Amino acid sequence: MKKVIFSFAILISTLGHRVSAQAPAIPPPPQFDPEVVALVDKAKAQMEAGDYEGANRTFRKALATKQVLPTSMSYFFAKTLYVIHQNQNAKNFVEKYLQLAGRSGDYYEEAITLKKLIDDQFEAIKNCEYCNLSGYRYVVCDNCNGLGVTVETCYNCNGNGYVTCPKCLGKGVLITTTPFGELLYTSCDLCDSKGYIVCPVCHGEKELSGRCPVCLGSGKKVSNIICNHLPEQK
Ligand SMILES: [Zn+2]
Ligand SMILES: [Zn+2]
Ligand SMILES: [Zn+2]
Ligand SMILES: [Zn+2]
Repeated sequence: MKKVIFSFAILISTLGHRVSAQAPAIPPPPQFDPEVVALVDKAKAQMEAGDYEGANRTFRKALATKQVLPTSMSYFFAKTLYVIHQNQNAKNFVEKYLQLAGRSGDYYEEAITLKKLIDDQFEAIKNCEYCNLSGYRYVVCDNCNGLGVTVETCYNCNGNGYVTCPKCLGKGVLITTTPFGELLYTSCDLCDSKGYIVCPVCHGEKELSGRCPVCLGSGKKVSNIICNHLPEQK
């Protein structure tokens, strides 16, 4: 920002504008869209009030205007994102701020401190077994109660354990015609004349077990709880 103002001042003087020697020219403050200014001010007020979710929404509105934004907004937005646990976005914005503002930025020290906090958070998440890479706590999968396996009624026998004999179609006897045109009844060898057989899919177990479709066998699922990286989550 300062750099821009500085070169603007040089440009004015090189263009030969008359600038009073007694009263050195004060460069005008950079002009931002009034809507952007209002939104950024509102977001900062929300941050001060502790309403970081609200500040996040307001900053996003400012971004959506597609107008030129004050560089410092990157820092404030990064801080907001860090508080609401959007670590990756927070990292992107604080790095953007440091890149744009450099060491002369108004919030250089604060930005360095914030970047360190974000990096520490990433490290804690990486070393934590209780959360995913976004820092959300794992909870027991309620579909399988943490077993990773679900048991369901056999689709083939509808939970009966037996199915109609496919050879005699349930009659228990096989009917054939002799060359003399007589009907010959023989007992069904597949079902021992019972007319039904043990279900070949569940082998009479009536149920089928398989990998839990919700947790894909892990027994855990990601919650919307921000992990504290400790064995006991408060
Ligand atoms: Zn049979
Ligand atoms: Zn079955
Ligand atoms: Zn499961
Ligand atoms: Zn964790």
